[in-house]
Amino acid sequence: MGTLATLVSLLLLWAQAPCWSHSSEWTYSGGELDEEHWPRGYPECGGNRQSPIDLQRRKVRFNSALRALDLEGYGDDEAGQFPVTNNGHTVQISLPSSMRMTGPDGTVYRAVQMHYHWGGESFEVSGSEHTIDGMRRAMEIHVVHYNAKYESYEVAKDAPGGLAVLAAFVEAENAENTYYSSFISNLASIKHAGQSTVLHGLSVLNMLPQDLFHYYSYEGSLTTPPCTQNVRWFVLADSVKISNVQVWKMENTLLTHQNRTLQNGYRSTQPLHSRVVEANFRYFPSSVILSFIPYVLGSELRSYLHRIENNIQYLVESLEEVKRQV
Ligand SMILES: [Zn+2]
Repeated sequence: MGTLATLVSLLLLWAQAPCWSHSSEWTYSGGELDEEHWPRGYPECGGNRQSPIDLQRRKVRFNSALRALDLEGYGDDEAGQFPVTNNGHTVQISLPSSMRMTGPDGTVYRAVQMHYHWGGESFEVSGSEHTIDGMRRAMEIHVVHYNAKYESYEVAKDAPGGLAVLAAFVEAENAENTYYSSFISNLASIKHAGQSTVLHGLSVLNMLPQDLFHYYSYEGSLTTPPCTQNVRWFVLADSVKISNVQVWKMENTLLTHQNRTLQNGYRSTQPLHSRVVEANFRYFPSSVILSFIPYVLGSELRSYLHRIENNIQYLVESLEEVKRQV
């Protein structure tokens, strides 16, 4: 009898629980399942290894064992076809599994998709998810991979060590980035949530920053529900530059499932808890060195010293790289 009563009360609880049957019901703001309430529908969103985070450069640990990422097939699919979808939260480009990334520990990951996070609401031109020393950049790219030891993304997405995301910041400047022109002009054809198109001749390599060597790395989660905590993050230190107009088009073309302009599609930064962020480069706060030099020395000399400082940093990094190779 007791068991039956438990079963009945469990069934009643289940019936009362909100049914988040498909992923389009969560939002960043507005509605019952906004960012603050994600843990109600997706408990892991309230975990202690969540992403994104604020990358505080003074607290990042330098790790010379973090080798360069090996990106295979990122640049040689210019003749390929790439399905592109407005999923109501972002624009998502499907990637071929021939695109692979090998992490510093030798783990091989296959690419699945890439997508973007941006701002745009209330004239706010910043919408990256990770921040550096508290500063949010214009946009952020996420190239999502799964661990090749699992047979598919579907298996890996819930498995330990299943995912890796290569992330990069996008910054706005005046010049048009022609590698982004076709992608951005095609957004108009997938204005409504659920619409798809196919892009031809896309080079993912060209859509990433020039410097693919320097990165931050830490253990985190997906930044959208279900916020699964099985993601190894690689956040590139360098950023991609696109024009202000291109950023504006990203922020003002697509619509959500609720037919609102898709803006501010980023999650706020999450507590680091006991995690440590590592990087394969050292951080030299230039102000520390330059603050010892009085301004009376003049701007020319200061800029000269700044160049020397940059060269020293470059030499230190080059030496570290040589040490790693021998
Ligand atoms: Zn993302």
